[in-house]
Order: sequence, then structure tokens, then C-alpha cells
Amino acid sequence: MGKRKKSSRKPMGPKKSDPLPTTFTCLFCNHEKSVTVKLDRKAGIGQLDCRVCGQTFQCAVNYLSAAVDVYGEWVDAADAVAKENTVGSGYGGTARPSAKDSRVAAPPTAHDEDEDDQRRYGGDGIVADDEY
Ligand SMILES: [Zn+2]
Repeated sequence: MGKRKKSSRKPMGPKKSDPLPTTFTCLFCNHEKSVTVKLDRKAGIGQLDCRVCGQTFQCAVNYLSAAVDVYGEWVDAADAVAKENTVGSGYGGTARPSAKDSRVAAPPTAHDEDEDDQRRYGGDGIVADDEY
């Protein structure tokens, strides 16, 4: 029997001539369908640009990536930048280990009583951000 079973191997459904969307709403100027995504799967680069405000973005893609994935990366990247700006304003909870180099996370309790230790550092070389 020379029958080849060609289908039933792909996990994904057959989407041959499925017109995937390649234009999206711009995050920056909010124009609908002004963002065009291009996929260069050979180079592994996804690229998009807004023809209205000129915003561009690039990210790595693979052979499974679709235009919408590039757009999603762009959204994430823009989101991360926005979050970074918010978090970076010195609002750190006490539970975070990295909060100690931002501001007065741990107030030195035995600071003032330890004068012997403090005298060595009493110069003007060290500027304490905390209160004395
Ligand atoms: Zn735009």
C-alpha cells in the first residue's frame, strides 16, 4: 500500500491561506492599523514601524513567530519601560532585598551608640543619607 499519511502530524491546524493580521494599532499615536509588521524569518528578525508617527521596533523571531508576536513584544517592551519609570522613583517595600541601596530601608539602630566604630569614619569622606 503506497499510501502516505501526510496529515495528522501537525499539532496546529492547517492555516495555509489564513490572512494573519499584520497591521496593528500604534501604542504611541493610537492610530489604528498604522503599525506594519514585517517578519524576516531567515534573519530571525521581526520589525515593525508606524507609518504615522514613525515609531519602530525590532525583536528576535523564530519560524513560529507571527506578526502578532512581534507586536506583543513591542507592547511588552513599552510596558516594561513604563513600569521601570514608575518603580525607579524610590518606592521600595521593606521586603525587597534591593531596597537597601535605594534609601533608608534599614534604619541603623545601634548606630549612635557605637561611637568607637563611628569615629574612624567620622571624616567627611562618607556622606550618610540617613539621619545622624
Ligand atoms: Zn504611531
